[in-house]
Amino acid sequence: MSDVENCIIIGSGPAGWSAAIYAARANLRPLLFEGAMTEENRVMGRFPMGQLAQTTEVENYAGFPSGKLKEFIDSAIDPSRKYMFPPVEEHPHAVTGPELMELMRQQATNFGTRVMTDDIVSVDFSKKPLVLNSSENGSFQTHTVIIATGASANYLGLPSEEKYRNRGVSACAVCDGALPRFRNKPLVVVGGGDSAVEEASYLTKYASKVYLLLRRGEMRASKIMQERAFANPKIEMVKFSVVDEVLGDDDPRIGVTGVRIRNLQSDSTSTLEATGMFLAIGHTPNAKFLGGQVDLRENGYIDWKQPYRTITSVDGVFAAGDVADDYYRQAITSAGTGCMAALDAERYLSHAGIH
Ligand code: NDP
Repeated sequence: MSDVENCIIIGSGPAGWSAAIYAARANLRPLLFEGAMTEENRVMGRFPMGQLAQTTEVENYAGFPSGKLKEFIDSAIDPSRKYMFPPVEEHPHAVTGPELMELMRQQATNFGTRVMTDDIVSVDFSKKPLVLNSSENGSFQTHTVIIATGASANYLGLPSEEKYRNRGVSACAVCDGALPRFRNKPLVVVGGGDSAVEEASYLTKYASKVYLLLRRGEMRASKIMQERAFANPKIEMVKFSVVDEVLGDDDPRIGVTGVRIRNLQSDSTSTLEATGMFLAIGHTPNAKFLGGQVDLRENGYIDWKQPYRTITSVDGVFAAGDVADDYYRQAITSAGTGCMAALDAERYLSHAGIH
C-alpha cells in the first residue's frame, strides 16, 4: 500500500477538476482518479471526463463566450492530449464539453495534480486512514476523499433495449450519432428534458427525422430548449407515449429496425420505423462503489450533511457535483461544489493538524 495521501479525488468531471485545482493550489498534492478507459465504462457512460465529454457545445459555462477559440486552446493544452477531443473548427464556436474538460484537466495538472487513469472500485471507510481500492493499481490510503463521480445515463430496463444496446440503442448521441447505421434514417429519442432536446437536435444533423417520445403531453426541458425543438422541422413530438419494445434484427450489422410504442391515453400500440433509439431519461448517481458506507438520500444521491457544506456522513469524506446534487446538475454548479469540497477538505486537514 502507498504512503498516506492528503487528498484523493475520485472523478474527472467539472467537480473533480475544480476540486483538484483548489487542492493543488493549497499544496495538498491531490491524486485524482479519472476513471479507466475500458469498453464497459464507455458503454455505461463512465469514461474519463464525465458527462460533458459526451456533449457538444457548452453555451452556459460562464467565461466561455462563443468566439475563435482555436488559438487559445492550441496554446493552453498539451499537444499530446489533442486526441481527446475532435479538432477545433476554424469558425467561431462555443467551447465544447470535451474541450472544456481538457482545459480543466490541464489547469489541474499545471498546479501539480497527479492523475491516475483508473477506477476506484471499493472503499473502506471504517478506519483512519481511509482506504480506496483501485481496479488496476492496488489500494491507497488517504486522510481525505472527495467523491466527484457524477451520474450515468438511465436506461428503461427492457430486455429488448438491453439486446440492442450498441446495435442501435444508445444513451449518447454525441458518441454514436454519426455512425453509418443512423445516417439519413429515422431515429427515436426517449425523454422530454434538456438532454433529450439536445440529443434530438444533434441527431438531426445525421438522421432523416427524429421522433421525440414524451410520456406526458409536454416537455420538461427549459423554454429555450423547447423552442429549439419546435423550430426544428426534423423533430416530431410523439406525446403520451412510452416504449413497449425495441424491434430489430438478430444480424448485428442491422440491429434496431423500429420501436413499438404504447399510447398511454388510448392504450394502443404502433410502430415507429427507426434504426436507432437514444435514451435521455435522466441519470443515476455513481455511488455504488461506496458499498453503503456513505449515507445516501432516498433517491440514491450522496447526502450532504449540512447546508452549504460538502461534508458527508463520514469524517474526512466530501462529495461534489452530480453524485450529490440532484437539483441543479449543471457544469458550473458542479465546478462550484468541487471548489467547496476542496476548501472543506483543506480546513478538515488543517483542524486535524495534518496539513
Ligand atoms: P430530466 O430529469 O430533466 O428529464 C428527464 C426526462 O425523461 C423527462 O422528460 C422525463 O419525463 C423523462 N423520463 C424519465 N423517465 C422516463 C421513462 N421511464 N420513460 C419515459 N420518459 C422518462 O433529465 P435531463 O437529463 O434532461 O436533465 C438533467 C439536468 O441537466 C437538468 O437540470 C437539465 O436542465 C440539465 N441539462 C442542461 C442542458 C443545457 O442547459 N443545455 C443540457 C442537458 C441537461 P417527465 O417529464 O414526464 O418526468
